Amino acid sequence: MLGLMQDQPLLISNLIEFADKHHGDGEVVSRRVEGDIHRYTWSDVARRSRQVAHALDGLNLGFSDRVATLAWNGYRHLELYFGVSGSGRVLHTINPRLHPDQIAWIANHAEDQVLCFDMTFLPIIQAVHSKCSTVKHWVAMCDADKLPADSGIPNLISYEAWMGQQSTAYTWPVFDENTASSMCYTSGTTGNPKAALYSHRSTTLHAYAAALPDVMCISARDAILPVVPMFHVNAWGIPYSAALTGAKLVFPGPGMDGKSVYEMIENEGVTYAAGVPTVWQMLLTYMKPNGLKFSTLKRTVIGGSACPPAMIDAFRDDYNVEVLHAWGMTELSPLGTLCTLKNKHLTLPKEAQMKLRLKQGRAIYGVDLKIVNDAGDEQPHDGKAYGDLLVKGPWVVANYYKGEGNPLVKDKDGVSWFPTGDVATIDADGFMQITDRSKDVIKSGGEWISSIDIENIAVAHPAVAMAACIGVAHPKWDERPIVAVVKKPDAHITREELLAFYEGKTAKWQIPDDVVFVDTIPLGATGKMLKTKLREQLKDYKLPTA
Ligand code: AMP
Repeated sequence: MLGLMQDQPLLISNLIEFADKHHGDGEVVSRRVEGDIHRYTWSDVARRSRQVAHALDGLNLGFSDRVATLAWNGYRHLELYFGVSGSGRVLHTINPRLHPDQIAWIANHAEDQVLCFDMTFLPIIQAVHSKCSTVKHWVAMCDADKLPADSGIPNLISYEAWMGQQSTAYTWPVFDENTASSMCYTSGTTGNPKAALYSHRSTTLHAYAAALPDVMCISARDAILPVVPMFHVNAWGIPYSAALTGAKLVFPGPGMDGKSVYEMIENEGVTYAAGVPTVWQMLLTYMKPNGLKFSTLKRTVIGGSACPPAMIDAFRDDYNVEVLHAWGMTELSPLGTLCTLKNKHLTLPKEAQMKLRLKQGRAIYGVDLKIVNDAGDEQPHDGKAYGDLLVKGPWVVANYYKGEGNPLVKDKDGVSWFPTGDVATIDADGFMQITDRSKDVIKSGGEWISSIDIENIAVAHPAVAMAACIGVAHPKWDERPIVAVVKKPDAHITREELLAFYEGKTAKWQIPDDVVFVDTIPLGATGKMLKTKLREQLKDYKLPTA
């Protein structure tokens, strides 16, 4: 017997229509690329999202066609979130920090038809547009009078001229909630980047879950500053949860430095902020010597990389701000766990509470976790046994875009799980803690660096026989890559020559901080480089840049 409740698909257009109807006067404030502050309301977002939908129809884009963005966190980007997905197209947010060749590769792979970009990124577009064979329309996210006359980009249009004269009335199409809504590429451990393809259903369920009190606890009384970029897993889903709850949104635009973030928090009464540890490090470094305090900030979600204990202490002891440590992945939309204490933990001494707060936290309803050993046996939840962390749930990838990569594994009962590449413990209260990473990638300032790319460039040098890239702890960037190199017999190469060889072949920030010449690189039985052994060998190594 089926239930007798109304069957309404969970669609992203419903989120923005709800925001318009129920908290239309709620504010959305953005620092613009031009430097000034733009402010309007959720009703304005809804109105202009409908105009975006019309403008896309006007380009004759088909259902599920991809519309890419190369943009900071700002109001026009937000309108594209709702206008593109709501009208049945797929929003493809591209990370502008990638090397232009990688950006072109990703745009071609996604078969983007339209690319909307902030003017900051005009030089990138000028470098890649001739290589992006599927993009038919280039939209500069600016006023008509800011459009450069001689950009060299064919048929470049300004966002305001493109969508500004469209009708503000639009009937959002109704379709299957499993339809793709947005996509985000992530650097794989092997091969090319792969895209997680989110659906309207997964995004809406994630928006509900993220707003829960023991998750991000987002409400109509919050003013939220997502410093986490909108090009990185939909800014952790915050734009959708804010539309659902009526929270005020405050967008930092290109200003991610300590001073700009602090000013946005204070000027806009921000109660709640979210970002990677590096951003908060920059904020604290700015505040301390200037003797500054927060007047409204209460909580901050920190994730993407492990949050250092000193940061949790500084926020609590010096600024009376609660840090919520979170763990997630592009493949998880991204939230998996969040560290909020249970009632019984509130009376624990400070040190015991701190031990818990350093963990990545408890699973959110909707995400199932388990840890397994090499044989696939589930490990006990005792906080000591560790294993590969597997997850499943309605906002976890089942497959990558175009069926690449086969991401799931089956357990002994035939149930499919997504292996995260993280190694973790889980304690009796369900708190998960990441202890290691089995995947071969480095995370610097919240951004991935593929060790394989770094190694491939090194071995392309005629003097290099073998290269292994590992991450080394760094106080600001969390991790920085170094490359261990075995020279070819009788070949000569210096550290500086090899570092210079990287110039232009990868983004500047992905170039390793150092080269360490070694006689051999430890290999396993199958000939695979044993990075764990190499890390052990280099345990006393100190980064010159740290
Ligand atoms: P991404 O797909 O770029 O969001 O990266 C996801 C990966 O970042 C995870 O698989 C972890 O390796 C790492 N990560 C995310 N959050 C945390 C955290 N709180 N602590 C440690 N590592 C984290």
